Amino acid sequence: MNTPEETLDPEDWEATRILAHQMIDDSIRHLDDVRSRAVWQDMPDHVRAHFAMPAPKVPQPLSAVYAELQTYLLPYSMGNIHPRFWGWYMGSGNFTGALGDFLAAVDGSNLGGGTTGAALIDAQVVGWFKEIMGFPASASGTLTSGGSMANMVAHTVARNAKAGVDVRAQGILAMPQPLRFYASDQVHSCHQKALEVLGLGAVALTEVRSDDHQRMDVAALEAAIKADIAAGIKPACVIGTAGTTNTGAMDDLQAIASICKRHGIWFHVDGCIGALLRIAPRNKAMVDGIEQADSIALDPHKWLHTPFEAGCVLIRDAQLHFETFEMHGDYLQMQTRGLIAGTFLADYSFELSRGFKALKIWMSLKENGVAKFGRLIDQNIEQAQYLERRILAEQKLELVAPVGLNIVCFRYANGRSDEAGLKALNTEIMLRSQESGLAVPSDTTVAGKHCLRVAINNHRTTRADLDLFIDAVLKVGAQIEAEAGVKA
Ligand SMILES: *Cc1c(COP(=O)(O)O)cnc(C)c1O
Repeated sequence: MNTPEETLDPEDWEATRILAHQMIDDSIRHLDDVRSRAVWQDMPDHVRAHFAMPAPKVPQPLSAVYAELQTYLLPYSMGNIHPRFWGWYMGSGNFTGALGDFLAAVDGSNLGGGTTGAALIDAQVVGWFKEIMGFPASASGTLTSGGSMANMVAHTVARNAKAGVDVRAQGILAMPQPLRFYASDQVHSCHQKALEVLGLGAVALTEVRSDDHQRMDVAALEAAIKADIAAGIKPACVIGTAGTTNTGAMDDLQAIASICKRHGIWFHVDGCIGALLRIAPRNKAMVDGIEQADSIALDPHKWLHTPFEAGCVLIRDAQLHFETFEMHGDYLQMQTRGLIAGTFLADYSFELSRGFKALKIWMSLKENGVAKFGRLIDQNIEQAQYLERRILAEQKLELVAPVGLNIVCFRYANGRSDEAGLKALNTEIMLRSQESGLAVPSDTTVAGKHCLRVAINNHRTTRADLDLFIDAVLKVGAQIEAEAGVKA
């Protein structure tokens, strides 16, 4: 007797259809109401405990699963979809992108490669980024999980190109000289991680000092390169940062490009924050020089507000990119016809199976047009300048770094200069702001000064939100000082 066959398809599609419509209706309400909710709230113990349950053994209706998610998941999200979320550096998502993720899953294609509409959309989105960045059509690229992976893909290609041996076959121990990558001391930590994973070690990253605007000191860069050459070390790659994570500082990309040209060094731009300034009508000149890069990492889940996750890397020399990752098992041989023919996307990435992240980017770019995203970038920069003016006008507040982009670093100082006390005070202001649900700033340290950090990468923020936040900082700062017995 044959065992009855099963499937994951619902027994009752009609009931599923009604429930799915309900989910869409609820989702729209959830976004429409976002401003009326706390940005973030901590989880009560019973909620935490709920997530400690073992793997489900018995089935339950999807409606019950959905009800559970409404109770335990949605109220405890990160809050980056809220207009007053400015912590770390995140995009705020968009509903079309969410639909894109859903529709991509319904299409179901594996973006490892293949002759599918999905693969063409993937290639088209990468092509749009090449066009936006001023890269030639002959360049290559791949969508990644985010900026960390985008930077790592670029560093792998740069390492292989500069290794001096066939590093894929022989490994790093066969390299005739150690390689060096250079970046400013403001570089994102993912670069060190990448070089560690690539077997080059943290020692391969030289952090060049930055100036008082947190930009790479290019004279110090050239001196470091010359000293390494004299010492028998091979300068492989300079990483210019277009918008640092700490303060939004912009390295001098033109100057770095010409140093790289002079010494035959790979020029990589970490544009996770700033590369997309290329589409911002009022601020695009800030990234002049980016088009000269050998590779660029950018992050659609930041200034394009693609729902997590979506990064992208572009490589000028498509052949080097292909030679770094091309590999096919017996079970995956390319054909000239049929489903597996033409360009195979996994030949440009570590990953074989890949999701259809291109669709959410494709849909929202088509719906809004590139120009609208450009205006939103300009809007965030203008809001940062507005916040800077508000801070400069308040005696008790101190601006800690110049505002060049959309990141504002400041602290409640009230004329004090006791660093330890100020750090404790501002940390407490940050935590109370997060815990009250009013706003989510994060913190950092710039040139030895601990400060609040407001990164306005948010299409829902208004100037009124910033006013509300500044008023709260002043009030809470004074409150904490009063609790500690400090005279105002
Ligand atoms: C955010 C960021 C990264 C890391 O990107 P993820 O998408 O978080 O992996 C790298 N570099 C810079 C400058 C960033 O701001």
